[in-house]
Amino acid sequence: MLDFLVISPHPDDAELGMGGSLARAKAEGRSTGIIDLTRGEAATKGTPEIREQEAKAASQILGLDLRLNLGWPDSRIMDSEDRRLQLAHHLRELKPRVIVAPHFNDRHPDHVAAAHIIPAALHLAGLKNSPLSGTPFKPENFFYYMGNGPFEASLVIDTSDYIDIWEAAIRCYDSQFTGEAASETVTPDIYLRRRGRAAYWGTFIGAKYGEPLWSPRPVAYTPF
Ligand SMILES: [Zn+2]
Repeated sequence: MLDFLVISPHPDDAELGMGGSLARAKAEGRSTGIIDLTRGEAATKGTPEIREQEAKAASQILGLDLRLNLGWPDSRIMDSEDRRLQLAHHLRELKPRVIVAPHFNDRHPDHVAAAHIIPAALHLAGLKNSPLSGTPFKPENFFYYMGNGPFEASLVIDTSDYIDIWEAAIRCYDSQFTGEAASETVTPDIYLRRRGRAAYWGTFIGAKYGEPLWSPRPVAYTPF
């Protein structure tokens, strides 16, 4: 059983959007994991082998308990019964208490596809009568994290004390973000800009830095 699972269309998405939260969860004694859906082989920069090494280094920095790669085709992720069942099978095995998926407002079609496949897989994982092995499973909560497009946050996780770990994890992805890779697709100063984004979201909760989440349903909270 995993406490906190972040699903990442490409190696680096989970770190970019949820790296501070993953570091904080670990520091607070929770078990954490990332499922990468693709190996990022369609990217202009880097190779799947390089990206695998980068993901390994970032996982170590975040202290992840688990990192899986499903090897789906980069830039060609399509919603299908097979994809849903495959992911549902892993979710039943891991039984993550909280699952975080990439938000569907994104310029990358893989992020959009993932945002639709993940809740559908969760639905299958919870069914008594399905072609899956194992027992039905439902997480305690399910949220979306911010990728390349904005949303109105449902909640913000205070990551003030973990911003440096977050940046160290992102900096593992040298092939994507530094040198030649700082091109027109991945604009320069990503570390500065993403830190600025975290500072922006932090202002709404009185924190130095924060990571926003969007909930498809109202979040239960009892103020007494
Ligand atoms: Zn991505």
